[in-house]
Amino acid sequence: MMATPRWRSQLIALAMLSGACALLQAAEAPNDALIRALQTAGLCNPGAPCEPSEDNRLRLQRYTESTEQWAPVPAQVLTDGAVPSDAIVLFDGRDLEQWVNTKDHQPAGWIVRDGVLTVNKTVGNIETRRQFRNYQLHLEWRIPEGITGSGQARGNSGLFLAGTGPGDAGYELQILDSWNNSTYVNGQAASVYKQAAPLVNAARPPGQWQTYDVVWTAPTFVADGTLKTPAYVTVLHNGVLVQNHTQLSGETLYIGKPTYHPYDQAPIKLQAHGDKSAPISFRNIWVRELP
Ligand code: MG
Repeated sequence: MMATPRWRSQLIALAMLSGACALLQAAEAPNDALIRALQTAGLCNPGAPCEPSEDNRLRLQRYTESTEQWAPVPAQVLTDGAVPSDAIVLFDGRDLEQWVNTKDHQPAGWIVRDGVLTVNKTVGNIETRRQFRNYQLHLEWRIPEGITGSGQARGNSGLFLAGTGPGDAGYELQILDSWNNSTYVNGQAASVYKQAAPLVNAARPPGQWQTYDVVWTAPTFVADGTLKTPAYVTVLHNGVLVQNHTQLSGETLYIGKPTYHPYDQAPIKLQAHGDKSAPISFRNIWVRELP
């Protein structure tokens, strides 16, 4: 058997020694980390050595925990189904129990067939029985295949985020065929009507279902009716962000500049637009009230 050369034994001894040093350093690392954390938090007394003592460790723990919030615990929302467990279902394909006609608050009078709600242009706008302030809303809509017309006269409808009065009074998120249809950009699908064009055009072709996911922050007013905080809306169209916390200048108008009119709570309204194109359809509408 060949003897290990002297230089080789020395090398091995050196390697073992450096390994031991690394182990020693690793053993000391928690204290170093503690000292660093104490210094970062400003918990060491100025001018005195920063000791990794048990007292200091407890001080650091108390300081760390002082920024933890434990209450109120967020309510649990189950999302196993298509609709979050705390949502109010406004249309699930069965009936229009949650809706009334805007004009006279009588039964809504739109058409429900095969789980789908279709606009009935002869009876006008419909709105929810309930009133809302701030909310998250999901809604699906479909422009019929073979839609005719152009510009604003092609599959026009609308989601009024707050229906503040008769007719088209309120804040309209536009619904329109914007697949291949030129119009003013602050009047195309997913625009805040005549106030804010969508960031991009995420429209699908006629015949396909499309989604709106909306977060609506209602305006607030002081006692004398003047505006306290404006309305904001965030919208995802087919999962794509198209309105990003957009600030509104007031109610949406066809003619004139938007202005605010005080209200507290309002129904959500769907538009029966008077254009001659075929009526559009809706399905799967739900809302979650927000603080
Ligand atoms: Mg419209």
